[in-house]
Amino acid sequence: MDTTLVVYNSLNGKKEIFKSILPNNVGMYVCGPTVYSNVHLGNCRTFISFDLIFRYLKHLGYKVRYVRNITDAGHLENDADEGEDRIAKKARLESIEPMEVVQRYTLDFRDTMAEFNALAPSIEPTATGHIVEQIELIKEIMAQGYAYEINGSVYFDVIKFNDDIPYGKLSGRKIEDLIHNTRTLDGQSDKKNPQDFALWKKAEPVHIMRWPSPWSEGFPGWHLECTAMSTKYLGKQFDIHGGGMDLKFPHHECEIAQAESINKKAPVNYWLHANMLTLNGKKMAKSTGNNILPGEMFSGENSIFKKAFSPMAVRFFMLQAHYRSIVDLSETALEASEKGFHRLQEGISKLEALPTSPESSDFHITVWQNKCYAAMNDDFNSPLLIAHLFDAVKYINAVSNGLQQISKTDLAGLSKLMNVFFFDVLGLLNTNKKQGENGNKQLEGALQLIVELRNNARAAKDFQTSDLIRDSLSNLNIQINDTSEGSTFKIN
Ligand code: AMP
Ligand code: ZN
Repeated sequence: MDTTLVVYNSLNGKKEIFKSILPNNVGMYVCGPTVYSNVHLGNCRTFISFDLIFRYLKHLGYKVRYVRNITDAGHLENDADEGEDRIAKKARLESIEPMEVVQRYTLDFRDTMAEFNALAPSIEPTATGHIVEQIELIKEIMAQGYAYEINGSVYFDVIKFNDDIPYGKLSGRKIEDLIHNTRTLDGQSDKKNPQDFALWKKAEPVHIMRWPSPWSEGFPGWHLECTAMSTKYLGKQFDIHGGGMDLKFPHHECEIAQAESINKKAPVNYWLHANMLTLNGKKMAKSTGNNILPGEMFSGENSIFKKAFSPMAVRFFMLQAHYRSIVDLSETALEASEKGFHRLQEGISKLEALPTSPESSDFHITVWQNKCYAAMNDDFNSPLLIAHLFDAVKYINAVSNGLQQISKTDLAGLSKLMNVFFFDVLGLLNTNKKQGENGNKQLEGALQLIVELRNNARAAKDFQTSDLIRDSLSNLNIQINDTSEGSTFKIN
């Protein structure tokens, strides 16, 4: 089996063979959320994409140090260097401490990712926990001559840097175009050049998130934290840096400039960018209101979709697209994924009791296994892997219906691989078995009781109540079937 992994490197737009700096070890940094509000499904898509990558690297046997930060300071409202800090603003509006905002939404983020069965990163550092490292970094950049102080704020000198080391390598933007395109925002007059960016900002009197520094009482620029924390935990050069496509510029471009200004070498070997989740054909974003929260999706309490979708159905939906493709969230697509996910689960459940024969018919496990790995080795092509899993389900169903045969050895191999890909690599859960034996028994008992109460309501011609019970259960993906012998339920 070939385990050569090829990844698409955003730095040069090419697929390259992945080679880690240290054999069998991978250092991976992914920009985490800015914790000033609940994460929306778009954010989740990016983190689920990197969860897939983390899981597959681990599956290949790498010891992965996965660092994903929490941005809890320095991210200003307009992504540029002006405006209020997003967290401070929320704290002001709600009359609470900024750290209460941070705590609330960090917990929400972690709970949400756990619902999606995403693995926790190895380290989850915060910007406010690394102010000292950020100040040290600014000193080093200044010592190299690539930053200047004006009125207590420090800016990175993009023009001077670009004279020595080309700026714009990742985004492909040319400095001349930047000069031409950059709007002069209010308050940017402090900067020597409009394309320079803040490393340290002097805090206005109203700004509540502030720390002492050699230049002023203030706060770090947004791009700095990722350079400080990735370097601290992964070194001056590491393997993979990831984030959503929208972070390529300016965030990641500025990260490269900061690191290169000190070390004079590229900080990251492979830049990986996940593409956007859209809703109604437009990027899902907090600022525009064009978004849906995971909780609203799971409960069905939203005005966009007619029914609820479970975390695993949504995860499966996302994995059915390649991480570099744009995906639009629609009821039809979600329903199709939900159906497919159940078909896959049913196929896996059938494996245990599949009858065996002396010989397998024309399904070649080794060939199939190679195809599955080839898909994932080709830049983590999860939709292709899932298509191969469906081929296996077709075969499982045919064996189950007596149309094809499988040998004992092949069944053991197929079961192992199906489980590995479904649970370990794709990170899916078998929702039919989620509660464990006891949980299932309790749930079944409770549902039996509800069905009986509904039967009583029907017998008393109280159809309002019986319909309400059926519809509410249906929203939870529990289906009631009324037959001549009575009503049964099915958990989808
Ligand atoms: P933020 O909390 O805004 O810093 O975003 C956290 C992560 O979510 C970043 O990697 C963004 O690139 C990513 N992101 C934001 N919007 C979307 C979207 N609509 N689809 C996919 N990823 C997104
Ligand atoms: Zn970052």
